[in-house]
Amino acid sequence: MNKIAEILDGVETMGIAGHIRPDGDCVGSCMALYLYIKKCFPEIKVDVYLDNPKPVFQHIECMDEIKTEACGEKDYDLFVTCDVSARDRMAIAGEYFDRAKLNVCIDHHVSNLGFAQINHVKGDVSSACEVLYNLLEPEMVDRTVAAAVYTGMIHDTGVFQYSSTSPETMRIAGELMKTGFNFSKIIDESFYQKTYIQNQVMGRVLAESIMLLDGKCIVGYLKKRDMDFYGVDGKDLDGIVSQLRLTAGVEVAMFLYEVETQTFKVSLRSNGPVDVSKIAVYFGGGGHMRAAGCDLQGSMYDVINNISAEIEKQMPKEQDA
Ligand code: 5GP
Ligand code: MN
Repeated sequence: MNKIAEILDGVETMGIAGHIRPDGDCVGSCMALYLYIKKCFPEIKVDVYLDNPKPVFQHIECMDEIKTEACGEKDYDLFVTCDVSARDRMAIAGEYFDRAKLNVCIDHHVSNLGFAQINHVKGDVSSACEVLYNLLEPEMVDRTVAAAVYTGMIHDTGVFQYSSTSPETMRIAGELMKTGFNFSKIIDESFYQKTYIQNQVMGRVLAESIMLLDGKCIVGYLKKRDMDFYGVDGKDLDGIVSQLRLTAGVEVAMFLYEVETQTFKVSLRSNGPVDVSKIAVYFGGGGHMRAAGCDLQGSMYDVINNISAEIEKQMPKEQDA
């Protein structure tokens, strides 16, 4: 596939969906595609399904039109997922994806094995938003589509900081900026800004973090009872693992929080040679070389021990350095 128009021939109904706990890239790419179809192909009846996006994405146009749950039987002509690395990561509307006449996956996860009929997956590209942008006609990308694409790009590149940021990423960001949205407001309010409670929780995780593997691995954790105490859930914990990663001398950062008793959501970040995607895949998850995640069951100490053992296997030995 070179352009999105190639899959729209004869399409009257279309669904779009992202992954569970949608992040900025997921919301941005799904909404950008939704807004683009509405604008350029008004004859297509399009629906977008997202699992309760965070309020920080309210600057994106038409967020009030998102369907947060599947409702009734639907047979779409076309169903497209954006930023979804595996079929079991689809939050809602999975059955619509399966039943659609044609299903398509637009993604950038190296761990994506291709679960759709058409898989447009570019593992070396910064974000699903960047992959999607290349499927659109640039002159048809208006301010609303551009703001959604830009949101995804800043979230998945850490505001153009991670190694996945390429000259092409910056060129596209420049093109998007020309449409005139308030980019500094989007960066501040959707990426950096935290609530007072979120900052308190981050402070606590940092204060209680532990160093393993001779200071090359840092671990932060949050137990269910502490999350209940602060009144936070997984959505409030963005940015914690990135802050852990910035500790001097650290190669890998691990952050885990208890989703339910003895079930942990694990986020991994790497600063160098350790491929955390491999580790996440080993434990049934996925992601990218430098940012990946998985769900694990057991005691917190089992989870930390199991994952750090895999990190240690990949950690370069001193004599290799
Ligand atoms: P985060 O740590 O921010 O939740 O996720 C980092 C990256 O890993 C994202 O690209 C995300 O899609 C991926 N990821 C996180 N958790 C999982 C998981 O349980 N399964 C899969 N397949 N990918 C995950
Ligand atoms: Mn992404």
